[in-house]
Amino acid sequence: MTQSTPVFAPLPRRATRLVRIGKVAVGGAAPVVIQSMTNTDTADVLGTAMQVAELARAGSEMVRITVNNEDAARAVPHIRDRLLALNMDVPLVGDFHYNGHTLLSKHPACAEALAKLRINPGNVGAGSKRDPQFAAIVEIACKYDKPVRIGVNWGSLDQSVLARIMDENAVRAVPRDAGAVMREALVVSALESAAKAEEYGLGADRIILSAKVSSVQDLIAVYRDLAQRSDYPLHLGLTEAGMGSKGIVASTAALAVLLQEGIGDTIRISLTPEPGGSRTQEVVVAQEILQTMGLRAFTPMVTACPGCGRTTSTFFQELASGIQNYVREQMPVWREQYDGVENMTLAVMGCVVNGPGESKHANIGISLPGTGESPAAPVFVDGEKTVTLRGDNIAAEFKAIVDDYVATRYIRKAG
Ligand code: SF4
Repeated sequence: MTQSTPVFAPLPRRATRLVRIGKVAVGGAAPVVIQSMTNTDTADVLGTAMQVAELARAGSEMVRITVNNEDAARAVPHIRDRLLALNMDVPLVGDFHYNGHTLLSKHPACAEALAKLRINPGNVGAGSKRDPQFAAIVEIACKYDKPVRIGVNWGSLDQSVLARIMDENAVRAVPRDAGAVMREALVVSALESAAKAEEYGLGADRIILSAKVSSVQDLIAVYRDLAQRSDYPLHLGLTEAGMGSKGIVASTAALAVLLQEGIGDTIRISLTPEPGGSRTQEVVVAQEILQTMGLRAFTPMVTACPGCGRTTSTFFQELASGIQNYVREQMPVWREQYDGVENMTLAVMGCVVNGPGESKHANIGISLPGTGESPAAPVFVDGEKTVTLRGDNIAAEFKAIVDDYVATRYIRKAG
């Protein structure tokens, strides 16, 4: 390997309890887990199963589906069965609001098919109904031995908790500002709900917490506080992150700070897909956050220069994009056959200025000719120049070099 050791490593993960969700471990010493959520009508068994499968193939290690009515609750076991028929036992998480107690008690097969329940204390029930309905869901979780994520969200914050925290704040010698009061209410709602779930019989090792907001700085503050005040595993995510680069940047900014501090055991990137865009983008972004931070490795990373006035054709961008797509497509096959390919690094560079230098730092790098340079593209393998490509077939020849490297440098798995 020619990669250098990072100077600033993330802080050690904060100690949390280990929670098992089907075949997936969250918290403890387990790696940070990636999850996602479908946007299909859950009552559409085939459509939902296909989207779960697509998300799982992209790398989602758990998939959440909304369970909002009787048809959805009836569909859940069939979705699970269709996935098992595809040999996919990705844990399904049921997302419940308002009527979870009714749906789970009327549809035990739904409760049984789910690997985890997600409940929002702000939406469990109003007034005197809140505690009994919350208790009913927790009892079902205990009966079917399912972990629960207590997921607080500032858009649906438990108003009784908020009112109490506001009252307490009003009599403080130095009252806190409205933002601090809201953040405290989020944290208190999560912690008090978890304590109540334990009172109702749910083991502490069956509870995960989240407290999502849509502002980066608020999210960082809330999770730092939550991490200090509990040892439950934490699900991180910036809620309603938005679309395109805004959603990606905001999510990355928030999660990177927390992950660097060792906070966070599972993540979801709440991107709004572009019209017609793939739901799997949120999984790719989650993987790239973890991989670029050095926390996990999923797929070979391609380093590419941005290009400049020295790259006057689109060939350089096409090759960089083609190689990135190629390794991502090949990865499911490589992962089955070889150990460690996800750690491979590639470089596609636009000219001689930084091309050879950057290429030597990668496992495989190619330095394309910039404008006015001789039409030759030297290839470097583990820091050594091995061949110079020319002509119209550079992309195919470079992919063949990548294939050959994988087949000869990584250990073939047994079987
Ligand atoms: S490596 Fe060359 S083409 Fe790429 S940004 Fe630098 S100077 Fe421009």
